[in-house]
Amino acid sequence: KRGGLSKTLSKRISLAEKYQIEQEQQNHKSSWIKWWHAVFFFSGISVLACLCQLFLSYPYGFMMTSAQIAEVGIASGCEGGLERCICPRVTICATDTLSIILLALARCSAFFDYPLYMMMFLSKCHNINNVCRRTVLREWIDFGDMHKVHRLFGIIVGIETMFHSFFHMLRWGLNADIDLLWITTTGISGLAAVMITPLICWPMAVPAIKERLAFEVRKGLHYLSIVWAIILLFHSKSRIYYLIGIPALMYLVDYLFGYFVRNSLIENAFFERYGENGVALHFLNPPNWDKKPKTSYVYVMCPWISKYQWHAFTIFPEPTKEDHTMLCIESSGDWTKELHRKIKVPCLRPLYVLGPYKSPFSDAAVTTSNAIAVASGIGITPTLSLVLNYAGKKRINVVWACRDPGLVEYILHKIDIGAITKKSYAFIFYTGTRELALPKDLPSNIFIFTGRPHLEHTITGIVTAIHSGDGLPEEIYEAQEKIANAPFQQRMKVALSRVVEIYNKDEMFEYAVEETEKAAAAAVAEDPVPESDGTIDTAPLDDSDPETAPLLFSPDEVSEGQVSLKGLDSMISEFLGGIGEYSRSDIEALFHEIDSDGSGFIDRDEFDDFIGMITTESMSLSSSQHELLSAMERSLDVRRSSIDSSVHRSTHNNILGNDTTIRYMQNLLKYSEGDNPLEDWSIFYCGGSSKIAQILREVTSKYNIDFAVEKFDW
Ligand SMILES: Cc1cc2nc3c(=O)[nH]c(=O)nc-3n(C[C@H](O)[C@H](O)[C@H](O)COP(=O)(O)OP(=O)(O)OC[C@H]3O[C@@H](n4cnc5c(N)ncnc54)[C@H](O)[C@@H]3O)c2cc1C
Repeated sequence: KRGGLSKTLSKRISLAEKYQIEQEQQNHKSSWIKWWHAVFFFSGISVLACLCQLFLSYPYGFMMTSAQIAEVGIASGCEGGLERCICPRVTICATDTLSIILLALARCSAFFDYPLYMMMFLSKCHNINNVCRRTVLREWIDFGDMHKVHRLFGIIVGIETMFHSFFHMLRWGLNADIDLLWITTTGISGLAAVMITPLICWPMAVPAIKERLAFEVRKGLHYLSIVWAIILLFHSKSRIYYLIGIPALMYLVDYLFGYFVRNSLIENAFFERYGENGVALHFLNPPNWDKKPKTSYVYVMCPWISKYQWHAFTIFPEPTKEDHTMLCIESSGDWTKELHRKIKVPCLRPLYVLGPYKSPFSDAAVTTSNAIAVASGIGITPTLSLVLNYAGKKRINVVWACRDPGLVEYILHKIDIGAITKKSYAFIFYTGTRELALPKDLPSNIFIFTGRPHLEHTITGIVTAIHSGDGLPEEIYEAQEKIANAPFQQRMKVALSRVVEIYNKDEMFEYAVEETEKAAAAAVAEDPVPESDGTIDTAPLDDSDPETAPLLFSPDEVSEGQVSLKGLDSMISEFLGGIGEYSRSDIEALFHEIDSDGSGFIDRDEFDDFIGMITTESMSLSSSQHELLSAMERSLDVRRSSIDSSVHRSTHNNILGNDTTIRYMQNLLKYSEGDNPLEDWSIFYCGGSSKIAQILREVTSKYNIDFAVEKFDW
């Protein structure tokens, strides 16, 4: 399966894709300008319109002479020596300078917000946006930004509403007109709106409140925005019907359409626990979905948990099943914990799926050729989805910190991260306590450490290795593939021929003997062997390591200076570290080849004969064997996956980063003569850690690298 996947992924990039990548890179050059900045342009126009309306003379605007004011009949005329003032209706009557200023502040703030009000509703019209993102509009609008836009505009509107009300009330108070607040429709609707605004905004935006309220409560309060919109329809004349009424109506229709029509019932989704703390599920893509939906999220409702709760989760293609989508769900709150509790065994269950909707980590998210996607915990799901999107096209290096062993194991077993990131590095920092059960054949561009990452080191290490070309991940990957494809006997002999040049063969043999004795002693201590005919191993197999070959003979029968299968195996892995994977039958076949008298042990003569033969053979290595040898040497140079970070540090300082890589990056910036040498790099973070987000913000600003963060804490 893995071979198939990596072949598919390594398909040549089509011209269309190349074009798209070039376009994205061009757009990136002006990436500080965002499409939604245009909304503020409309806000500016709206404020201008407001000022014109206030200060142009009647009938073009509200400015009237005292005589005209008196004719309207609300006030007797202008005050404080003013020739013109404003009083077309009772709620916006400002006849002195201070009142005019306060009225201007109140009205301008509302006018500034009109385009934002519209966008707040439109940004959450998921289905309309989903249609629009397939049109030419996508050239101007990044639909993946919608949640960010909604949040930002929501905060502005929340503040503005207070500002607007305050200036109106201050003016009414100063003019002894405060009763307008409860005797006019404008006053009552304004008062109601200003009272519910904090309930809509604060629980979503103020961290202290957000942490204390359950999501369902926050969301329920947020839906008061519909009531807010309806109240505002009565707040002022005609204009508001269009500016707030229409977008709010569109949102409602879109919501109902999504709920009843765009909603797919998946009758048989496969659910399984991926570990102590989460559930993975996959299902056949519903007929109305794209064949391969890009980085997106869906809302999921499991009627067997709650018919009222829809939760957002990132989707990515199931790597081993064509046309299937998968989700990983970490237990975090009541719903996700209930899901984990209910999935006791792998099973098929129904669920409803709403979407998919474009996520902030979307198909156009990576506008640079190189990126580092940092994830923590379940944040790996959008990160993987991103990596899958760009597999083979861009270098998306992955740095993942995770404390959940089940999740690390599940992802590593399920997804061939090595293949999809073969032009990149994947660093996994495991911070959990239980030992990991890792797949045996992890590629050499994946590094696993215990402990937290030193993010500045890691980032500068990756950038330096790739920027300098001195440690390109694809070279390491190719070297390893070459090794993996050669037969074990050939790999072993080639490696041994080089190793005997470096190590003394006495040293190697002694090591093998010692390991044989150690294994024998350990086996006796663990499970003393009662009776044996001396030909069959009765010691239990070491289940924790499927590659560990069993002892073929009873341990207490090991004579001095002899090497068992176990001893040979240990010697090979100690001295021939870069040899690649081999199976138990491989090592058994080799053992029998060396053990020429068939005694079941290798003695010194047999070992010497074998080394002698290898050394003679190595004089005439073919060119393909030479290639294999250099691949092995390179592979030996790069640490294979290990959970011992101290070993890592000693051997691969540069890829892991250190003061040298920090200096390399600093020099790059120092001698760049005005250009940004890291313009083609970007960093993403997905996960719930504010600390990581903060460190990344500091590192990216130090090195002038683009940074985007998505905490999925809606
Ligand atoms: C776009 C997006 C993608 C996500 N992808 C994943 C993923 O791949 N895997 C994963 O495990 N988690 C993902 N999450 C988070 C996931 O939605 C929440 O963990 C889950 O909904 C928690 O529900 P709960 O009732 O168990 O916990 P609660 O205690 O109710 O919620 C915990 C937090 O989860 C978030 N949340 C809860 N319900 C929703 C909802 N309906 N919509 C949006 N956010 C919600 C809120 O920030 C809330 O504070 C994603 C969130 C978003 C917004």
